[in-house]
Amino acid sequence: MGVVEFGGVETKPGEQTWSVLKAGKLASGTAVEIPVAVINGAEPGPCIYVQAACHGVEINGVEALRRLLEELQAAELKGTLIVVPAANILAFQQGTTNTPFDDENMNRVWPGKPDGNISSRMAHVLWENAIKHADYVVDLHTGYSTMATHTVFMEGRPECLELARVFGARILLMEEQDEEWEQEGFQGKLRNTATNAGIPAICPELGGRARFEEERIVEGLNGLRNTLKHFNMIEGEALIPQNQLIVRNHLTKVTTDVAGIFISRVEFGQVLDEGELLGEIYGLNGLKKLDEIEAPHRGCVISHTENPIVNTGSSLAMFGRVVEEDQQLLK
Ligand SMILES: [Zn+2]
Repeated sequence: MGVVEFGGVETKPGEQTWSVLKAGKLASGTAVEIPVAVINGAEPGPCIYVQAACHGVEINGVEALRRLLEELQAAELKGTLIVVPAANILAFQQGTTNTPFDDENMNRVWPGKPDGNISSRMAHVLWENAIKHADYVVDLHTGYSTMATHTVFMEGRPECLELARVFGARILLMEEQDEEWEQEGFQGKLRNTATNAGIPAICPELGGRARFEEERIVEGLNGLRNTLKHFNMIEGEALIPQNQLIVRNHLTKVTTDVAGIFISRVEFGQVLDEGELLGEIYGLNGLKKLDEIEAPHRGCVISHTENPIVNTGSSLAMFGRVVEEDQQLLK
């Protein structure tokens, strides 16, 4: 592979460099600069783009990337890895999901605009300078602590399913492009913009918003190692779990008509038949069981509420349909 030029910095084969992409300025005069690493392998191979913290509060991917770069030797890499540890540098600085200053969800504005608001300009410089030149895209997000790690990919794209499968999360969330998808502006999510531009992309949702969770960081790191191994960019075999599940991303919200304290009785990722016990609600006055919550249909427990103190109408859990025919796609 030849020299890669990026952000005005040249990276020779077998080298790693850092540069910044300039997306604009704040009123104070402070430049909006997004740090980018290029690891140019000594030998040819694919180009993978990986980013974290497009939502600034979702930081476990940042640490997974730090650990990956600590162990990765450019001289031993085949192909090119482009790493952006904090895509939304402004939200990362503030510890927010959306961008301060324009209150935009940056994961709705891809591929961005050169003359848009600051979120759109950040997306634009990343897309134009890096993402559109990549062969694959991994966009690391995090949900929250009481959520199973899962990887989202677009339905009907075998190359995206393959990327999701290789990353190694047990639950693979298949996203359909339907009317709701259009209305919600989901075409502006990076995984969808990239996939629709012919660049297979996935969005692993690790857990642990706003704080490091060791298990989730390791899942992210192993997923990145797996991806590089799968494309023969580094030595070794990808370790893919045998019990992966494809789940439809139209999740069922389980709510309660009984107020009190919710105790989940299931593990994340557990598959329940309709009517099986999901959790129990205890009343504060007497601390006795008031209700049993059952699975609304056969499916997989994706998450439960972070706050177990629930009112009438509160959401208790998100539950996903496992479509048995889809599992054939994993064979
Ligand atoms: Zn996110």
